[in-house]
Amino acid sequence: MPSMFFGHGNPMNALTQNKFTDGWRRMAASTRRPRAILAVSAHWYGPATAVTIAGAPRTIHDFGGFPADLFAVEYPAPGDDWLARRVRSLLEPCKVECDGEWGLDHGTWSVLRHAYPAADVPVVQLSINEAQPPSFHFALGRKLAPLRNEGVLVIGSGNIVHNLHAYGWGRHVPDPYDWAERFERFAKQSMLSGDYSRLIDYEHLGHDAQLSIPTPEHFLPLLYVLGTHGSGDALAFPVSGFDGGSISMLCVQVG
Ligand code: ZN
Repeated sequence: MPSMFFGHGNPMNALTQNKFTDGWRRMAASTRRPRAILAVSAHWYGPATAVTIAGAPRTIHDFGGFPADLFAVEYPAPGDDWLARRVRSLLEPCKVECDGEWGLDHGTWSVLRHAYPAADVPVVQLSINEAQPPSFHFALGRKLAPLRNEGVLVIGSGNIVHNLHAYGWGRHVPDPYDWAERFERFAKQSMLSGDYSRLIDYEHLGHDAQLSIPTPEHFLPLLYVLGTHGSGDALAFPVSGFDGGSISMLCVQVG
C-alpha cells in the first residue's frame, strides 16, 4: 500500500465538492482497497501517544461556528481491534495508550468522507503526543512502515502550511502569501531529494517556516507519512493549491 498525506484545510471541505476533494477521491481510487486505515490527524494532539479502540468510533464535530449541516455529518466506519493491537506492538517500547473515548475527528472524516464515502473500511486513529519532538514523530512513522505490506493505508491529515491568523475568510479568494509559496516549494524540494532531516528540523528553518508552521499539529502528520517511505518508493504530489492564501492543500503520496 502507499501512504498518503492529505491537506484537509477548511472543515467545510467535508460537505463541498471542489478540486481538492475530487483529488482525494482520485487518490483513494488509484490504489487497491485497504484492509484498514490508520489515521494520524492534526486534531488529535494531546499529552500521550494513544490509539482508538472503540468498535464503533463516534464522529467528533471538533469545531465551532460552522453550519448545522456540518454538525450533522456522521462517518460510521468501524474500528479495528487487530490494527490497534498491531500498532501498539510495532511502536514498542513506546507506550501507547488505548483510548475508548476518542473517535474520528474532522481531520480524518472530512477527508475520508470523499476518499471512502461508503465508510466501510475500518479506521483507527493514532494521537500525536505534544510533549515529543518532531524526530520522535518521524521515528514512529518508520516503525509503522511494515503496515504497508499488511494491507493498511497509513494516512496523515493536516496542512504543510497552516496559518489561520493570515487566512482570508472573505468571498474574495486571496493569492497565496509569498512566504507560504516559498516554504511549500522548499518542502517539496526536500521531499523529492529524499532528505527529510531539514523538514524534521523545521523549527530552525527561519522566518518562512515560522509563519507556515506557527503551531506544530498540522505539520507533524506529514512526518509520520514520510517515515513510512521505503527505499525505491516513488513520491508524488497528487493534489496541490492554496486556500485562503495561507493554507497549503498539498497532498503527498509515498509509494
Ligand atoms: Zn485542521
